[in-house]
Amino acid sequence: AKQAGRNGMRFFDQRMQDTLSARAQLENELRTAFDHQQFELYYQGQVDADGRATGAEALIRWIKPDGASISPAQFIPLAEETGLILLLGDWVLEQACRQLRDWQHDAATRELVLSINVSAKQFRQPDFCARVRSAIERYGIVPARLKLELTEGLLLDNIEDTIASMTALKALGIKFSLDDFGTGYSSLQYLKRLPLDQLKIDQSFVRDLASDPNDQAIVLTIIAMARSLRLDVIAEGVETQAQRQLLAELGCDAYQGYLYSRPQPLPAFQSWLAEASP
Ligand code: C2E
Ligand code: CA
Ligand code: CA
Ligand code: CA
Repeated sequence: AKQAGRNGMRFFDQRMQDTLSARAQLENELRTAFDHQQFELYYQGQVDADGRATGAEALIRWIKPDGASISPAQFIPLAEETGLILLLGDWVLEQACRQLRDWQHDAATRELVLSINVSAKQFRQPDFCARVRSAIERYGIVPARLKLELTEGLLLDNIEDTIASMTALKALGIKFSLDDFGTGYSSLQYLKRLPLDQLKIDQSFVRDLASDPNDQAIVLTIIAMARSLRLDVIAEGVETQAQRQLLAELGCDAYQGYLYSRPQPLPAFQSWLAEASP
């Protein structure tokens, strides 16, 4: 038994060692990727009730030199742990504002709203508001065209701080969407205190919407909540006409998902735009 225990321990150490070095390696790779500008923003269209494009969500991709595209699900968590998310987040903000500036020069794209994802660490930086203001001013963009997607977990953690930061950002004129809505512990009680503009129905409620009455009830409740708080509501992960039809019947009026557009590089997104907003 003693022997097995020692072997068990050695095995455990080895596994921990492997995990740690895999992590360290990924962390190194991420830094190198950042230095070599291997990150790219993809754009996923958002549409209104008539299927017309109203904007996009910017989703980051890591494009390796061999062309392979790595999903943020695989590196954002580590970037958050190591603090690299601050560099990445700044870069995303910068890219987004630059893109909005370009769109503002063209009558066909002038009104598009671009949403970016903001991580907790990034949002909690004492100078986050100043960074956003600086980017908006440097690119001369209309603040209302920039939307920040925040998650419930982020907002709930220290709500007084959250309200203060959001209020300062709101004063600049930017918009807020509550991402992954329904997966956290939202109550009307705290939601009504936040200067939000939009609730985004999490894709987990959309996936089985056509077959699951529970999901239908949840979506109906979310939309009722949004209405009573005078917030817009958008559904994400819309893949089928059946989902989109049900969402419409439940009162949703904005959609995002593969049914309309996958997240894609800028040129492909611009082609999609030309078709989706005739
Ligand atoms: P999210 O913000 O909830 O983004 C939605 C995810 O759903 C995206 O995954 C998107 O590609 C995917 N998606 C969109 N439409 C559909 C659909 O119809 N069906 C299905 N099954 N999936 C769909 P993605 O791009 O892999 O991003 C994963 C997560 O990584 C995001 O979840 C977000 O939390 C994070 N992320 C992405 N970009 C950034 C960024 O620039 N900064 C930060 N902090 N986080 C980011
Ligand atoms: Ca999002
Ligand atoms: Ca989401
Ligand atoms: Ca998510």
